[in-house]
Amino acid sequence: MYDMKALYQAADVADAVALRLAHPEAQIIAGGSDVLVQMREGKRAGAELISIYGLDELRGVSLEEDGTLRIGSLTSFSHITQDPLIQKYVNVLGEAVDQVGGPQIRNIGTIGGNTCNGVTSADSASTLHAYDAIVELTGPDGVRRQPIHDFYIKAGKVDIRAGEIQTAILIPKESYENTFGHYIKYAMRNAMDIATLGTSVNVRLSADKKTVERVRVAFGVAGPVPLRAGTAEALAVGQSLSMDLAERFAQAVKEDINPRDSWRAARDFRMHIAVESTKRAFIESVKKAGGEL
Ligand SMILES: Cc1cc2nc3c(=O)[nH]c(=O)nc-3n(C[C@H](O)[C@H](O)[C@H](O)COP(=O)(O)OP(=O)(O)OC[C@H]3O[C@@H](n4cnc5c(N)ncnc54)[C@H](O)[C@@H]3O)c2cc1C
Repeated sequence: MYDMKALYQAADVADAVALRLAHPEAQIIAGGSDVLVQMREGKRAGAELISIYGLDELRGVSLEEDGTLRIGSLTSFSHITQDPLIQKYVNVLGEAVDQVGGPQIRNIGTIGGNTCNGVTSADSASTLHAYDAIVELTGPDGVRRQPIHDFYIKAGKVDIRAGEIQTAILIPKESYENTFGHYIKYAMRNAMDIATLGTSVNVRLSADKKTVERVRVAFGVAGPVPLRAGTAEALAVGQSLSMDLAERFAQAVKEDINPRDSWRAARDFRMHIAVESTKRAFIESVKKAGGEL
């Protein structure tokens, strides 16, 4: 059924790195929900695969000593949604990945695969950008940590170097502390469809809950790679909460996004959805943070 030349099973992370070096043409396979579909479509004929799916040390969510939230790269979407640490600190990430595909895909698909495929529509990616996530890669020279913004090079291409595998996604405490967020996936239908546009907002309010202390907004499918809208973020910082602010914040995202025409949607339509989704996600985030507009 699958035109495969060889399948190497990694015994641990060091073995995965050694296999990558020994077989530079081989592709990593985690849950396989992208890789196996592509192979079944006849792409990658004669591929060599390195399976890391058995590496339980890359599965799960934990807190590092400094409060950094660590999500192992093999953690599945359903695990993330149900995880108590995710629910407590970055609930919006659990909500976002709960909108991936259907239940089977959410059980098998991993956050590592969702980011390593370099796809702009990946449902985890905009929220990870909105939280300044750090990507951890392990290779022959040890561990390398890189901001997720730099990890994405271009559509479908991420910065994974010779011999490396992605081992974790990290969200620094400074990024998630006292933040409340909301994700809106706009798609043609509710299930089993990829995003026409994905919008992730999170806010941190002042102690009296009347002012925006920090706000983040990031998108999928608003450009070739997921991106943040810094102009809108800067506009809202230090401002008093109001519906007028929500409107101005949403309109400002047009400065930073650059969606394209595709068979799914026209550029203008994506622009419109981006503004409307930003406004709604901002309002919802503020409500979750205990603020009033
Ligand atoms: C029916 C269907 C519906 C889908 N719906 C959605 C959706 O709504 N939203 C969405 O975002 N995605 C969707 N997807 C895509 C897919 O499920 C996700 O991208 C998933 O996260 C991929 O994870 P995986 O573990 O299965 O990756 P795999 O298929 O195993 O790998 C994907 C890519 O990442 C690389 N890779 C994986 N893990 C690592 C690692 N740790 N280090 C280095 N490289 C690695 C692989 O080499 C490969 O290039 C859907 C897929 C299907 C089949």
